[in-house]
Amino acid sequence: MTRVQPISAGLDSPPYSLRARILTPLAAGETLYEADGLLSVDERGRIGRVGRWPASEQVLEPAVDLRPLLLMPGLIDLHAHLPQLPNAGLGAGLDLMTWLERYIFPLERGFDEPTAERLTPAALRAFAAHGTTTVVLYGAVYEASLDAAFRAAEKHGMRAIIGKVMMDRLRYDETVEDHEVLELSLRQSADLISRWHGRDDGRLLYAVTPRFAVSCSEDMLRESAALARATGTYWQTHLAEDRAEVGEVLRIFPEAADYTDVYDRAGGLGPRSIMAHAIHLSQREVERLAQTGTRIAHCPSSNLFLASGTMPLARYLEAGLVVGLGGDVAGGPDLSLFGVMRAGAYTQSGMRTMLGETRASLTPLEWLRLGSLDGARALGLENRIGSLEQGKEADFICVDPALTAPLEGQLSDDPAEIMSRLIFRTRPDMVRGAWVRGRRLPA
Ligand SMILES: [Zn+2]
Repeated sequence: MTRVQPISAGLDSPPYSLRARILTPLAAGETLYEADGLLSVDERGRIGRVGRWPASEQVLEPAVDLRPLLLMPGLIDLHAHLPQLPNAGLGAGLDLMTWLERYIFPLERGFDEPTAERLTPAALRAFAAHGTTTVVLYGAVYEASLDAAFRAAEKHGMRAIIGKVMMDRLRYDETVEDHEVLELSLRQSADLISRWHGRDDGRLLYAVTPRFAVSCSEDMLRESAALARATGTYWQTHLAEDRAEVGEVLRIFPEAADYTDVYDRAGGLGPRSIMAHAIHLSQREVERLAQTGTRIAHCPSSNLFLASGTMPLARYLEAGLVVGLGGDVAGGPDLSLFGVMRAGAYTQSGMRTMLGETRASLTPLEWLRLGSLDGARALGLENRIGSLEQGKEADFICVDPALTAPLEGQLSDDPAEIMSRLIFRTRPDMVRGAWVRGRRLPA
């Protein structure tokens, strides 16, 4: 098996120029692939030149030659739960509610400030090691643990959007009286926003985070959405992940037309809102989500792991929904978005073979776009990150496609074939480095 060597020093911070293979979606559509490419990063961490290695080399400053390694945009994980990482991979086959009670709430209840200080740096290193450079996280309910998480992200260098979980029903924070929860949770969220939203020139951002309709009152949903609007932050929650959950939501919100309508009535839909899962939706709900520009975090590995269902991705894309990918750790067992792409592809195959889906499945290069540029679009950050294009911030990863070859030496030079193997023959050590704004992330 191919030995993995460390990438040379000198790339910890910009400026520098790299010579390598390059694969990236482009904002204008299509994909750029260069077998012998150049990526230069200026001192501010922005992409200067990107494209084919010039025929005449005299115009260039010295470049670090990484060939045959491949540079790609850093992947964007739209949905993960920071306190849950220690239980990733546990509880397969349980239904959502049982799994939450047994494996999740105990971890979240214990996610206090010291725990957050201990676990967050390790979690961020793990995300970076798997090729993720932007992560959207749910924390626990404790304000101090969120400060600790943001401090860790500030130090680590990851691009992170984080929010304190808000719940005023079925909650685990028993030290707070029922009648105080809503006001306290709003005040703590507002305080965290004032301390962290926009920090480091927008590398750290805040997402107001009501967990989901089952654990939030109508007041909490409405007030949290108002807070997100007033502060220009994101609003993230879960939507229609599991059939039992949908039934429970319709029972406790009898006035709502459907699950999506619960959030709509609260003022929660719109382009700054990220709905995780969104599996069990009527046509009306899909149209309403598209009409409002609401973003969807597609989490197929989680949906298979918890047997939640199969999201009709092709139908949603046809309806014009903006969809990116989420690992949903620990509902999803794996931090790797390459693994999430694989789960998504298998879900599409299953829908075509077993559920009568006739629309085409995504190609490997379309999965890459979903995990990078479309994720950036979902966050409204497509002008800053998501692809390797001039003027963008240099959030990128370096992977070794040779490690995914079935036999040594069977290395493809076709971009779709390279991406196919990165998805279907993922190896944990194939990600050789991750950078945000040209600064190398500890992994
Ligand atoms: Zn989740």
